[in-house]
Amino acid sequence: MEFSSKLLENAVYEMSQLPGIGKRTALRLVLHMLKQPSEQTLRLTSALQRVRNDIKFCSNCHNISDVVLCEICANPKRDESLVCVVEDIRDVMAIENTGQYKGLYHVLGGKISPMEGIGPQNLTISSLLTKVKEGIIKELIFALSSTMEGDTTNFYIYKQLEGTEVKTSTIARGIAVGDELEYADEVTLGRSIINRIPFENSLKSS
Ligand SMILES: [Zn+2]
Repeated sequence: MEFSSKLLENAVYEMSQLPGIGKRTALRLVLHMLKQPSEQTLRLTSALQRVRNDIKFCSNCHNISDVVLCEICANPKRDESLVCVVEDIRDVMAIENTGQYKGLYHVLGGKISPMEGIGPQNLTISSLLTKVKEGIIKELIFALSSTMEGDTTNFYIYKQLEGTEVKTSTIARGIAVGDELEYADEVTLGRSIINRIPFENSLKSS
């Protein structure tokens, strides 16, 4: 792609670094911005800068939050004995949308993936185990995507729980293997949480 302007080229290059944005789309977006009032671009760049600089993670569940303790963890109506283990905020949003879940979450921040060099120490697993040892949690619900990495992560945590009283379960999803949680429809996902199965049973069937 030949550019008549170095400034334009730079902007297109930076935009095309985002996932799913090719050079052509990047060019279209930048040209669109040039047609808009400059305040619009300013609002966008300042929103991005603020989310990057000021974002916090909940001290209890590690979900993205604007405050130290997120709204879910701070809500006294939520059942703190029940904790749903998820990969990231998209899963929390998907499960919250079902309106069927009244427990808390624990956001791992990813899945164990030797291929990508992600080990248990790169995730929030030790913080989860610390919480389990405090004795308030009665049940952990594994809700990671049913990929090899998801299964590995579930199993790793499950093994770490040996010798504790905590119950483990997994959501019986009516969606194909490898589908991400965020794409499951709300009714199916809600039902899967209610009809969750003991984690041990999921091991026998696989
Ligand atoms: Zn929280």
